[in-house]
Amino acid sequence: LQASLSIDLKPTAHPLSDTERATRLENPGFGRVFTEHMVTIKWSAGRGWYDAQLTPYASLDIDPANMTLHYAQSIFEGLKAYRRPDGGVATFRPYANAERFQRSARRLAMPELPQDLFVAAVDALIRQDIAWVPGEPEESLYIRPFMFATEVGLGVRPSNEFLFVVIASPAGPYFAGGVKPVSVWLSQEYVRAVPGGTGAAKCAGNYAASLVAQAQAIEQGCDQVVWLDAVERRWIEEMGGMNLYFVYGEGEDARIVTPRLTGSLLPGITRDSLLRLAADRGYAAEEAQISVDDWREGNANGTLTEVFACGTAAVITPVGSVKSSTASWTVGTGEAGPITMELRKALVDIQTGRAEDVHGWTH
Ligand code: PMP
Repeated sequence: LQASLSIDLKPTAHPLSDTERATRLENPGFGRVFTEHMVTIKWSAGRGWYDAQLTPYASLDIDPANMTLHYAQSIFEGLKAYRRPDGGVATFRPYANAERFQRSARRLAMPELPQDLFVAAVDALIRQDIAWVPGEPEESLYIRPFMFATEVGLGVRPSNEFLFVVIASPAGPYFAGGVKPVSVWLSQEYVRAVPGGTGAAKCAGNYAASLVAQAQAIEQGCDQVVWLDAVERRWIEEMGGMNLYFVYGEGEDARIVTPRLTGSLLPGITRDSLLRLAADRGYAAEEAQISVDDWREGNANGTLTEVFACGTAAVITPVGSVKSSTASWTVGTGEAGPITMELRKALVDIQTGRAEDVHGWTH
C-alpha cells in the first residue's frame, strides 16, 4: 500500500523560458543552481507515508524548535542523471541509493522510505525538470534526496514526524581543465567515525564533524582530508566525500584494493561498482585493510603504482601526493595513472549510455 502511494503533480504555472533556463545553466558549478520543482513526502507515526507531491521549488517553513536543528535527525543521498547520446536520460543504480537511504534511516532511528517510492520520487522530479539535464561531456543533473525530523519540541527522542524531499541541481564538469590529481592530508588529530558510530550512514552530522579536518587539510596546502580508523589510527578509511582505491602492479597483472567496510566508512556505490567493473576487465579486485605504512612503503618500493578516490560527484579522482604531520610523499608518478583513467572511462561510458550496461545499472 505504502509503495503504491502516488505522487500528486502540481507543477509551476510559470515555467522559465528556454532562454532563462539556458542562462542559469551557464557554468552551474556544483550545488548552487536548482531546478524548478521538488518532490515532498510526509511521514508521521500515526499515518506512515502520506501526501506525496511534486511542487514548485520553494522555501520550507521551519519552527525554531524543529528537532532537526537541535538533534540532527537528518540523512541524505546523492545520485546523478546523465544525458545519453540518443537524447534520453538515465540515473545510475538509484535502487542502491534507495537501499543505503533505508540503512541510514535505521541507524538514525528514522522511518524507512520504501525503495520504490524513493525511486518514483526521483523519477518524477527528473521527468518534470528533464530540460535541466545538461548534455555536455562530464555534465549531469545531481539529485539530492534527503529526510529530516519535522516535529517541534526539545525532548531528546526520535521525532514522530519527518519530511522526505528531493531536489535537483545541474552540475558542470568536476574537472573543467581535464582530470587533475589531488593532494591529500592524513588526519591524525581528528577522526570521522568510530566503531559503533554513524560512519556508514549518510547523515548530516558526519559532514559537520568533518569540516574542521578538511579546513586543516587546506591549511596544510592539501586539497582533501584522508581519514584513518579511530582505534589504531593507522588504517586508511576514506577521503573527504569519496572512497579510496590502491592499484598494485601494472598492466594485466594489476591488482586493485579498496579498504574493507568496517562500519566506520561510507559504502560508496561507485566503490561497489568499481569492484565489479575492475573484475570484468580482468583485474584482481579486492577489499582489504591498508595501513599508512603500507601506503608509504608501497610508493617507496614501487609496488603501489596508483591511488584514486571515487564517488558520485567526481566519479574517479587520482591522488597525486600524500602529507601527514611526519612525512610526505608522491604517489606513483604523481600524475593520473593508466588504470585510474581506464576505469574512469569505463564507468562514465556506462553511466552516460556510451558502453553496454551488462549489469543493468542504468535506470
Ligand atoms: N564517502 C563519503 C563520506 C561520501 O559522502 C560519499 C558520497 N556519497 C562517498 C564516500 C562515495 O559514495 P558514492 O560512490 O555512493 O557517491
